Amino acid sequence: MENNVIEQVFGKDVFNDEVMQAKLPKDVYKSWKKTLESGADLDIEIANVVAHAMKEWALEHGATHYTHWFQPMTGVTAEKHDSFLSPASESKPVLEFSGKELIKGEPDASSFPSGGLRATFEARGYTAWDCTSPAFLQEDAAGVTLCIPTAFCSYTGEALDKKTPLLRSMEAISKQAVRIVKLFGMDDVKKVSCSVGPEQEYFLVDRDKYLQRKDLIFTGRTLFGASAPKGQELDDHYFGAIKERIASFMKDLNIELWKLGILSKTQHNEVAPAQHEMAPIFTTANISTDHNQLVMEIMKKVAKRHNLECLLHEKPFAGVNGSGKHNNWSIVTDTGVNLLDPGKKPHENKIFLLFLASIIKAVDENAELLRLSASNPGNDHRLGANEAPPAIISIFLGEQLEDVVEQIVRGDVSSSIQGSKLDTGVHVLPVLKKDATDRNRTSPFAFTGNKFEFRMLGSSMSIAGANFVLNTIVADTLQQFADELEKADDFNKAVKEVIKKNITEHQRVIFNGDGYSDEWVAEAEKRGLPNVKSMVEAVPYLVTDKTVELFERQNVLSKAELESRAEINYENYSKTINIEAKTMIDMAGKQFIPAVISYVTSLADSVNTVTAACAAADVSVQTELLTKCSSLLAKAQKALANLEKVTAEAAEKEEGQEQALFFKNTVFVAMEELRAPIDELEMIVDQDFWPVPSYGDLLFEV
Ligand code: ADP
Ligand code: MG
Repeated sequence: MENNVIEQVFGKDVFNDEVMQAKLPKDVYKSWKKTLESGADLDIEIANVVAHAMKEWALEHGATHYTHWFQPMTGVTAEKHDSFLSPASESKPVLEFSGKELIKGEPDASSFPSGGLRATFEARGYTAWDCTSPAFLQEDAAGVTLCIPTAFCSYTGEALDKKTPLLRSMEAISKQAVRIVKLFGMDDVKKVSCSVGPEQEYFLVDRDKYLQRKDLIFTGRTLFGASAPKGQELDDHYFGAIKERIASFMKDLNIELWKLGILSKTQHNEVAPAQHEMAPIFTTANISTDHNQLVMEIMKKVAKRHNLECLLHEKPFAGVNGSGKHNNWSIVTDTGVNLLDPGKKPHENKIFLLFLASIIKAVDENAELLRLSASNPGNDHRLGANEAPPAIISIFLGEQLEDVVEQIVRGDVSSSIQGSKLDTGVHVLPVLKKDATDRNRTSPFAFTGNKFEFRMLGSSMSIAGANFVLNTIVADTLQQFADELEKADDFNKAVKEVIKKNITEHQRVIFNGDGYSDEWVAEAEKRGLPNVKSMVEAVPYLVTDKTVELFERQNVLSKAELESRAEINYENYSKTINIEAKTMIDMAGKQFIPAVISYVTSLADSVNTVTAACAAADVSVQTELLTKCSSLLAKAQKALANLEKVTAEAAEKEEGQEQALFFKNTVFVAMEELRAPIDELEMIVDQDFWPVPSYGDLLFEV
């Protein structure tokens, strides 16, 4: 019998544990595993043998090149390809790949953002093998390449990428969580890791139409566009039947992902027309981060095969939902215990409650940092805009845990609400057991059974940032708890006290109501919760004394590294808005204004021709349109001139915070002022004159 396609392709292009076991000498495999499990330094002898096996496997699969695959601060992945050809070879090719080449690479790093950490003349940057994430093969027109996941740092060891702080944060949280679980007698636990399952939203549009819009090409979002007559109001797209063209894209996508060992599990249509979602099964945070980068790249690649374009921007279309990424996160021991699993009786589960308290405290104390970790210029369109969680960080616990929390605060803990039966009233349907808690889709940070779901992330972002912040802030509260508990005389009493004290002190961050409502904004303000409205306003929190101390204490980022990241954030914001502004200037000046002039001229011609033919004819429609279009045209021209002026002014500002603020407060506003009259014109100008596909064409004709 023919095997199922998943069985045939799964992990085919990955140098995974199974392949290593088969290819490596037994003793090498064993010491390799030990290194991996203990997190100890890698022996070069072992690396040499692994490199050899990796090369042999890659060659068998047709690879000609290898690359250190890394994740610089641009947010996309980078690679520099070297062939396996050895320099020693003269007549006959010798294909070589040593342990040294496996563990260390040196791409010229001068053109990657470093936020001042490295002057361009000090170009050295190193990539170091992340041996915890398996190597894989990628095939494109250039052939097959062996990709080695790596971290990227400067000559002096500073992190220049998204991966390094993530790996450091995983060590930090492991160290502190192990201290805690040991206190509870779980002596066999040596390591604790964070599991992450990111749900990825995206749009698919027809590629021919996409190529007719410079805004989509240059910025990933539409900078102009009147709403289509239909939007998402009928809720008929959400979980709706998947169109055939999309289904065949999804089928291809799954196969490509499965080949790379990516556990693509769920797929469905999302809220907005042309919007979809893919969710993988969760895995360790760094692997999940690598996988999510691959998911985004492969979505784009596979889409093109179907003459589609995959839009990962957070807000490709105004007026319909944008795309986010839900980061499902939990803490699991190497013995397989999920420390965020409340069990049947959460009120009695001390270890769970202690971890819960540490998370509540960490989130409350570092809300601004979490908010920043979910910020990029695109996500500014979503957070707080009634489709994504508000910019206010709060925690949803659900009925059952909220009740336990109330009991803890009151000081008499005695019970946990249990899930009841769900009776549909139809006899042929089974009676289902209800979860103890319903879902709340409006919360930015929600407990969902045995994990937290951080829902603020933008669809195009690397998930590394959110996870290293989460790991680091929780590591820090766990450290404080461990310090206190290790010296307690009466451990049980001390645990109860730590839980009660911290939950009581940080209860204000818990909110189970509707996060989209105006009442919540007012209520949050009363509770003293921060409401940081934009990315640019969130950046300063990266370099406060409090943050620097916290990140240095946990050895995740140094002051210099944090400062560089703040600079990169400002730079990224300014550059993004600058490109958007310039694209608008280009489209308005070269496409929309000329199109409207042609239309207005045709109206004027019509008035002249009609009245010449019949002096008594009624040309009021043409005249009315002519007047209206001309007035909007003048408005657009004025707004265009203003946008040109302020964009030029922005270039003169001092780089960093000042420039970013100017882009946000002045240039962005001028962009909106240009968009308004043009969108209005789109509604009245004859569609034959309109130079780009409309929202209706893009969203409904896939
Ligand atoms: P929903 O859309 O209702 O949130 P999905 O099934 O789309 O649910 O997504 C749930 C995500 O959470 C999946 O990626 C899943 O792998 C992940 N997940 C489930 N359990 C855990 C866990 N313990 N730790 C981390 N992620 C998890
Ligand atoms: Mg979800």
